[in-house]
Amino acid sequence: MPSKKTDTKKKSTVTPWKHEPGWEKLAAGEEKKMEAYCKAYMQYLDNGKTERMAHDEALRQAVAAGFQNLDELVAKGKPLAPGTKVYRSCYGKTLFLARIGKAPISSGLNLVGAHIDSPRLDAKPNPLYQDDTLALLDTHYYGGIKKYQWVTIPLALHGVVFRKDGSKVTLSIGEDPADPVLTITDLLPHLGTDQARKTLAEAIPGEALNVIVGSKPVPKDDGDDDVSDRVKLGILRILKAKYGIEEEDFASAELEIVPAGKARELGLDRSMILAYGQDDRSCAFAAVKAILDASGTPQRTCAAVICDKEEIGSFGKTGMDSTFMENTVAELVALNEKGDAFVGTRRALEHSRMLSADVCALHDPAFGDVSSPNNMAKLNHGIGLCKYTGSRGKSGSSDASAEFMSQIRTLFNKANVAWQMCELGKVDVGGGGTIALYLARYGMDVVDCGVGLFSMHAPLEGSGKLDCYMAYKAYKAFYEA
Ligand code: MN
Ligand code: MN
Repeated sequence: MPSKKTDTKKKSTVTPWKHEPGWEKLAAGEEKKMEAYCKAYMQYLDNGKTERMAHDEALRQAVAAGFQNLDELVAKGKPLAPGTKVYRSCYGKTLFLARIGKAPISSGLNLVGAHIDSPRLDAKPNPLYQDDTLALLDTHYYGGIKKYQWVTIPLALHGVVFRKDGSKVTLSIGEDPADPVLTITDLLPHLGTDQARKTLAEAIPGEALNVIVGSKPVPKDDGDDDVSDRVKLGILRILKAKYGIEEEDFASAELEIVPAGKARELGLDRSMILAYGQDDRSCAFAAVKAILDASGTPQRTCAAVICDKEEIGSFGKTGMDSTFMENTVAELVALNEKGDAFVGTRRALEHSRMLSADVCALHDPAFGDVSSPNNMAKLNHGIGLCKYTGSRGKSGSSDASAEFMSQIRTLFNKANVAWQMCELGKVDVGGGGTIALYLARYGMDVVDCGVGLFSMHAPLEGSGKLDCYMAYKAYKAFYEA
């Protein structure tokens, strides 16, 4: 009998890459942790509606967790023991938090960097005027906004004013339910035929973003007879009586106008969050909470930097294009290491690894025509890893190396972090950038990774709770690595 023909060839086994929601990555009982995390995150959003407020709230939490002022420790001149927690503030707008590791600083840091400025309306330097019978604040928008989205919503005013004598007053109006709010008017549809023919970009021009602050004139016989200014005068009197502010004091003020109100759970299943400023406070809070919660004394020094001015290009003394972080690392090197601190600082920066923690765009089925579906972040599928950003041929991007992607992917898988790869959208339809390139130029490995958002830069942005929590989990794993 002929022998039976046996198939000695092995069947090839392939593992398709599944793109699934990340809920299965949650261990038993972990959903409760996620809910607690998101509650704390929403409180952070409510307390941190401007970069100054987001800075102060993070600093408050860090100090409560035992972080000490690095500048004071530098003045003492004693090397920092492994495990020491330090902070350094850059003019109350950018904050650096670090946990000193066992290894020398010059062997590099594990850095997570996010930004705490968000698109908004800034009051112009001479903002208050009266038009007809209304008192208004003239504004100059900050960051990339769709202007038509900022009309007819309740707005709050936050900021600082320095009086003539140099004293500082902090304003926060419109968040307490008992507070008044401000708003910008829009045209009624009955008279909007011409407006409706304009493009979205033209319908509400930047100069039309004038915020109503009052309508009540001071009485005629009250010293000033000039009718054209009596409503404005009423507002000036309120500012003087309540805050001791004169009109000229606006010259030394930073007043930011943002959507009023608190962060809310979104959806009947409460699986999402709707709030102002999630770009990029969703990643900033995750970076801060992760460094506060990371267990043990790290091998490499870990640092979170939450910075200002990303939305307008990272320029200025509080942006990531400044030398603040470099100087801070130099202080750490000078304090802890013998030898040339200049070279030590270069080495520390070059040998660092960084997660550039910034939000990405979610695939939105309502706007699927600008999506590259297999390469877009999907809601609640986990933290989005963006190998490169940029626009039109990756221009302006820091392209993370395959080597670094390999390390990060392995780390996230080991830590059971739900993650996904993403791009900003279809090639050639637009683009954007992050702080990644400002760190990559030191020679360190950097990759963008953060929470996906719906309606990015809108007054209210949407995020997924699982994605917010996975960002925290990812950054914590990175610190603990
Ligand atoms: Mn951002
Ligand atoms: Mn942005």
